[in-house]
Amino acid sequence: MGSATLYQLARRGARVLGIDRFAPPHDRGSSHGESRITRQAIGEGEEYVPFVLRSHEIWRELEADSGERLLSDVGGLFLSRQSGTALHHGQADFVGRTIEAARRYRIAHETLGPTEVQHRFPLFRLVGDEVAYYEPGAGFLRPERCVAVQLERARAQGAIVRTGETVVRITPGDRDVQVTTDVATYTAGAAVITAGAWLPGLLGEPFSGFLRIYRQVLYWFAPDDASAFAPGRFPIFIWIHGPREGDHFYGIPLVSEGVKLATEQFTETTDPDKVSRHVSPAETTSMYESHVRDRIHGVGPRCLRSETCLYTVAPDSRFLVDEHPDSARVIVASPCSGHGFKHSAALGEAIAERVMEGRSRLDLAPFSLSRVRRDTLST
Ligand SMILES: Cc1cc2nc3c(=O)[nH]c(=O)nc-3n(C[C@H](O)[C@H](O)[C@H](O)COP(=O)(O)OP(=O)(O)OC[C@H]3O[C@@H](n4cnc5c(N)ncnc54)[C@H](O)[C@@H]3O)c2cc1C
Repeated sequence: MGSATLYQLARRGARVLGIDRFAPPHDRGSSHGESRITRQAIGEGEEYVPFVLRSHEIWRELEADSGERLLSDVGGLFLSRQSGTALHHGQADFVGRTIEAARRYRIAHETLGPTEVQHRFPLFRLVGDEVAYYEPGAGFLRPERCVAVQLERARAQGAIVRTGETVVRITPGDRDVQVTTDVATYTAGAAVITAGAWLPGLLGEPFSGFLRIYRQVLYWFAPDDASAFAPGRFPIFIWIHGPREGDHFYGIPLVSEGVKLATEQFTETTDPDKVSRHVSPAETTSMYESHVRDRIHGVGPRCLRSETCLYTVAPDSRFLVDEHPDSARVIVASPCSGHGFKHSAALGEAIAERVMEGRSRLDLAPFSLSRVRRDTLST
């Protein structure tokens, strides 16, 4: 979120400074692990669709500028059971809502029955009562390269990037904002805070009252035949296979080594500075047994690699992009809840417009702080 915002501010001619406690792209936060799913029909809510559509345009512009491959549109398959499924990112009937969004926004797609899925994607083992949505324009992004390219483009347009420097305090005044780090104090006309999982700790209330941090694990399992999982042959997928929380997993074709497969957990919160980065053999076995073994042909239990990553989650599983309640000069931005990367390029653009022009072309209102506080108070 920070690299996208920095790039968009710099390309509009702002005098802009980006500060990070680590050196992005890095593996301490939420934007690493080789790949991120992107899809255009968004079952989490139709208000996200303009952001992902615009993001796809920006990723393609960045590819043209940099000569790098950022977005691979290998196709995406989204499956759920007709007999009832778990919520996905806070939404019931995620696949049905995805189909509605595709129809409304005229996104190329197909709806498939289980027999057709088995025929076209024989590595998926269905039980027979699934509904499926297939989107040919879905695929995956390379998050580390997206971050690096946006930082490079920002620097090329005059942005200064300071890494290994930690922001400790943000003090808004009537005419400016002071940002104090462990190295210096900077004065700016506006500040955009994109601290990811550290956001509640940095800003305190009201953010610490409702944002929760969850440790997630990514696994790369060994395929029997790597070519069967190559991009172009194997789609990205999200599969909601049962009614209980946690009855879902997702996967991404082979990018380097191993088939990347993961699920999500929302039961144990963590602290980004204390989180265990170790993935136990028991976690790996549980992932394989609970999700993979009976559903994907040609993937064995041998895990080649695993990584931990952090979700920042609002109570309604939606994003948070708004002014700080104490000052309109401070914008707080978190594409929370495990589905934000695909939208981040356009969110960065909208935030830059809001900072520089006072309003954005795409509507940021659905991600306002007031809606979270209202919902939190009423539950
Ligand atoms: C396992 C996993 C899978 C995901 N899968 C998908 C997916 O398939 N598709 C999708 O669209 N999205 C996905 N997401 C979500 C998406 O990746 C995140 O929404 C997005 O990357 C969050 O970006 P961010 O900028 O908020 O956080 P980060 O990338 O973590 O950035 C926050 C930055 O702030 C810096 N920082 C923090 N505190 C300070 C401080 N005090 N001073 C200076 N710097 C500071 C950190 O060093 C860090 O670089 C996934 C997330 C995870 C964890």
